[in-house]
Amino acid sequence: MLEEGSKCESCGDSLLIDLVYVEYTNESKPYILCDGCLNKLITRSLTPEDYFSLLAKGHSEDDFSLHGDFYIPENGIARQPSKIVGPEGLIL
Ligand SMILES: [Zn+2]
Repeated sequence: MLEEGSKCESCGDSLLIDLVYVEYTNESKPYILCDGCLNKLITRSLTPEDYFSLLAKGHSEDDFSLHGDFYIPENGIARQPSKIVGPEGLIL
């Protein structure tokens, strides 16, 4: 659930109005993300900072969205980004 004081688990953005709560049935934990970071998650285009930030928030590299076919576990680099996502989550 989104609560007062919730922050984007990826970038730390705390603008509640921009946050979304996403629950995937095949993943260990729901995501709380801003629009831009949700976009990056869906397009497999997280930056290493985003990737490790999500792991630090309790998400698992065994989860579908973060698993080893999409990100190199050692450095968080996206293996097959479907979009290049720039600042502010804009798709370039
Ligand atoms: Zn974010």
